[in-house]
Amino acid sequence: IWCPRCETAIAEAEVEYVNVRRKLYYFKFLLRDGGEVAVASTRPELLAACVALAVNPNDDRYVHLVGRTAIVPIYGREVPILSDEEVDPEFGTGVVMICTYGDKVDVKWQKRHSLPVMVVIDERGRMTDNAGPLKGLSVQEARMKIVELLKRDDYYLKEEEIESSIGTCWRCHTPVEIIPRMQWFVKTRELSRLVLEAARNVRWVPPHAYKRLEDWVESLDWDWVISRQRLFATPIPVWYCKDCGAEVVAEPEWLPVDPRREPPKVGKCPKCGSTRMVGERDVMDTWMDSSITAAVHAGWPDSMDERLFPADLQPNGYDIIRTWDYYLIVRGVALFGKSQFKTALINGMVRGTDGRMMHKSYGNYVSLMEVIGKYGADAFRLWAAMSAATGSDVRFSWEGVEYARRFLTKLWNAARFVNMALRDFDPHYKVGEHDYRDVDTWIRGLLEELTRRVTDCLEEFDFMGAASALVNFTWHRFCDHYIEAVKYRVVGSDEGSKRAAQRTLYDVLLRLLQMLSVFTPHIAEELYQRIYAKHLGWESITTAPWPKPQPYDKESVERGNIVISTIAAIRRAKSEAGIPLSARLPKVTIYAPPNYSEVLKKNLDDIAGTLRVARIEVLSRGRGAREVAEYPSITFTLHV
Ligand SMILES: [Zn+2]
Ligand SMILES: [Zn+2]
Repeated sequence: IWCPRCETAIAEAEVEYVNVRRKLYYFKFLLRDGGEVAVASTRPELLAACVALAVNPNDDRYVHLVGRTAIVPIYGREVPILSDEEVDPEFGTGVVMICTYGDKVDVKWQKRHSLPVMVVIDERGRMTDNAGPLKGLSVQEARMKIVELLKRDDYYLKEEEIESSIGTCWRCHTPVEIIPRMQWFVKTRELSRLVLEAARNVRWVPPHAYKRLEDWVESLDWDWVISRQRLFATPIPVWYCKDCGAEVVAEPEWLPVDPRREPPKVGKCPKCGSTRMVGERDVMDTWMDSSITAAVHAGWPDSMDERLFPADLQPNGYDIIRTWDYYLIVRGVALFGKSQFKTALINGMVRGTDGRMMHKSYGNYVSLMEVIGKYGADAFRLWAAMSAATGSDVRFSWEGVEYARRFLTKLWNAARFVNMALRDFDPHYKVGEHDYRDVDTWIRGLLEELTRRVTDCLEEFDFMGAASALVNFTWHRFCDHYIEAVKYRVVGSDEGSKRAAQRTLYDVLLRLLQMLSVFTPHIAEELYQRIYAKHLGWESITTAPWPKPQPYDKESVERGNIVISTIAAIRRAKSEAGIPLSARLPKVTIYAPPNYSEVLKKNLDDIAGTLRVARIEVLSRGRGAREVAEYPSITFTLHV
């Protein structure tokens, strides 16, 4: 398979099939012994390369033609009429031209029926001498010209528009051609069974990604062509004898070597003794290098560290399952008898805001540098993690990145508060258990739950689950409730209560930074360096040990939740009554059944301190004007 624009061979994996509307031309071939037959083709410019006509052996319309001879219009060459099971009687007229080569099927037919090869397209996509009057034209020009000639000489019948898929070069989108040229191949297809066996032992995330690999392996028609007609790439370490054509392949000790510049380290041809050797000018497919990355990372071939091999993780997009993942497994099987990686993490793509793949020509292209310039890398990373399940595509969303940025601002402000609150705090100070309030044990318990959830999500590569849990906790537990509930304590005179609040702020923010550093490494590092580095030995938050979730007391979390929910409900009522949050309230009456009122009474300081209420009374009987949404049996009345 050849790209006439890149002027190199490319592998099947580098061909992208696109659906296009194109014309199907009908024209006639005369038969040598009289009569004629109609043929349809989308590529009449390949008439000069026509080496046979073929019909389906079960097609009653044409069986009588098999074995007769047709005459190629314009060119006057005689070609046989064959029968082949693979001819589709439904396509065109049911008679097909076999050309060398219109597509992969032509290659198969040419081999199967031992047909000659006529090359009519050169390496730059121009028609060759064999194309006669089309010589020198591009493929497109040649198509127009041959239709003109067919019309002129009365072979032309009609044309119709059809939709069909054509192979294009993934790099430059030029339609590819099949031309015969000597190339180096790796016999990959005979490894297919072992490749799939090895691939089934890999953990694919998400699991359906394996199917893509399997479909690819099973669809391969050809082996892997590894030579490229390019300048810059890994050389192919081979020399040829100019006299007898023998190949001299470099010994491993000679490597690295560039045969285009250096002679082989044997003086003469091992076959004929000639000293006239010439180096291979082709270079390797870059996927040849990529096909050993995991082994090279583990030190191969010099000194393989078995602990690093196979690699734990091979992360890539689903677009290169058929290249990187496939080639890694093929060469892993060939060289080591196993896959080069244990887990394949297959990520989705960021699409344009219109849901289509980003493409400059669609006008939906967003430059990553523009996003980073406006919102920073952390906001973009956090958005990407939160916006789609692992392996799924996601539409780019400016609003989404903006939301992530707002979260980072919230985090920054919270950290600034914590830093100020810790001014006179010594992390070595031991806080007595009895100094912790229910709101402290509440946030500490939730933090352990969060740590477990984030850890579990990350083990499962569920980045959306982990990032969302972190954002929700930080924003709607830590910032909205806990920080609000301790503001009065860190400036208060109760030493024990103050230390417990400081200790909790210190521990919670640190743990959040440890976990957030996965998604937002820059801000996490900055805050770590400003607040924690002087107390802790870690050089960077990203090299800090991953936190282990600790056991916690679920009952005290529940008690804290009662207090926090009550505070939140009263605060909302205060704000809805148009009272500034900073304004003092003379009195609040809370009505709660005994089990709740006991908890609330124990935490009156925190409720009053957070809400700036002069006096709170808790009654076990009666109902207030409003209720606490999460605990409807708790009601309250504001006395303004
Ligand atoms: Zn190309
Ligand atoms: Zn020789």
